[in-house]
Amino acid sequence: MSEPNDLSAFWMPFTDNRGFKDHPRMFVGAEGMHYTAAAGHKVLDATGGLWCVNAGHARPEIVEAIRKTAGEMDFAPTFQLGHPLAFEAASRLALIMPEGLDRIFFVNSGSESVDTALKIALAYQKARGQGGRYRFIGRERAYHGVGFGGISVGGIVGNRRPYTTLLPGVDHLRHTHDPARNAFSRGQPLHGAELAEDLERLIALHGAETIAAVIVEPVSGSTGVLVPPVGYLKRLREICDTHGLLLIFDEVITAFGRVGKATASERFGITPDIITMAKGLTNASVPMGAVAVRREIYDTIVNSAAPGTIDLFHGYTYSGHPLASAAAIATLGIYEREGLFEKAIELEDYWADAVHSFKGARNVIDCRNIGLIGGIELEPRPGAPGRRAMEAFHRAFDSGLLIRVTGDIIALSPPLILQKAHIDEIFGKLAEVLAKVE
Ligand code: PLP
Repeated sequence: MSEPNDLSAFWMPFTDNRGFKDHPRMFVGAEGMHYTAAAGHKVLDATGGLWCVNAGHARPEIVEAIRKTAGEMDFAPTFQLGHPLAFEAASRLALIMPEGLDRIFFVNSGSESVDTALKIALAYQKARGQGGRYRFIGRERAYHGVGFGGISVGGIVGNRRPYTTLLPGVDHLRHTHDPARNAFSRGQPLHGAELAEDLERLIALHGAETIAAVIVEPVSGSTGVLVPPVGYLKRLREICDTHGLLLIFDEVITAFGRVGKATASERFGITPDIITMAKGLTNASVPMGAVAVRREIYDTIVNSAAPGTIDLFHGYTYSGHPLASAAAIATLGIYEREGLFEKAIELEDYWADAVHSFKGARNVIDCRNIGLIGGIELEPRPGAPGRRAMEAFHRAFDSGLLIRVTGDIIALSPPLILQKAHIDEIFGKLAEVLAKVE
């Protein structure tokens, strides 16, 4: 791969384009736990790319599956037609979903999975004669991608503010981040289950008969690693059941072993009605997302259509794309053969010790963890939020470590193939970096 000589045409997403183009940081290769930077040095990947390369980079089985499929059938539509790989990928995925969520709709990204889930929720309510249920309840600080549905139910202010027109009829629960009571929690924080009662408050305000669904990330990632307080998700489930609301878990980052099980739903023992996924589904090798729904939701929508007519007016040209389907099948095979979902449980204590060793380090105001996710929160510089963590990000890259920062929070989510020696290296390098950050 050669270095492009002109950086001006590509408008980079979620990027300070001027800053990047003045000081570009490029990758030109990836294998296993490492990237190769354009400057030639190896960069240890402590973020699984963007929370997505769960099985490590450039896995030969996935590469081969993509290569073979591209040569056999590059594309086939899935509107009123089909091809075997999409059905096989769906069946395999259904096997690892919580019991009952065995109907799969394919999309191309996490954002599309969220918008698809919201539309399925509306279609379901309508099909069961509850068409008055049009509202959604999201949560402050949530990240549900960048579609208009996702930013409407999402709660990251910067992602919403520039785009004046959002979905109508959306309200938000309070977020669960409570450093005053929960700072330096190992695993699930003890305080905050009562915040689920916000849902009762919003139901009392709007009327249950107007609300279609509640959507939350079981563990929030992009907003800086917010682990659900003990009892919180259970209470949300109970309230949804009492009032006939669908519960959607956005598992775009938590699915595929990130928290030690196939899904966070399984880890926490709470089954939602709909799960959104993407990222680790294909180990990020080909874009693909999915929505898993309870069979009764599928049956209700499908059976409400007149015979011979389309049941759900929704889908993407690339829903169930052959290359993505092949990559998903190969990826799910690796997860199973290598027992990668359990890896996050096996390493959780060692990882947690490493994350929490930063308690007391300069500028660190909180450390949190669950599965193979770590969050280290830095005190923001007065009048310059985010700058301190961004400096850490740049220094880490230069010293051969890829971390992710959001605001002043360092978020870590390495490939699940990592060994204890990698954990030592990640946190050793990070300690050196943070010691240099003013
Ligand atoms: N939902 C959650 C919880 C996410 O973390 C993300 C991405 O990080 C998305 C949705 C959006 O996914 P994508 O960037 O593939 O559209």
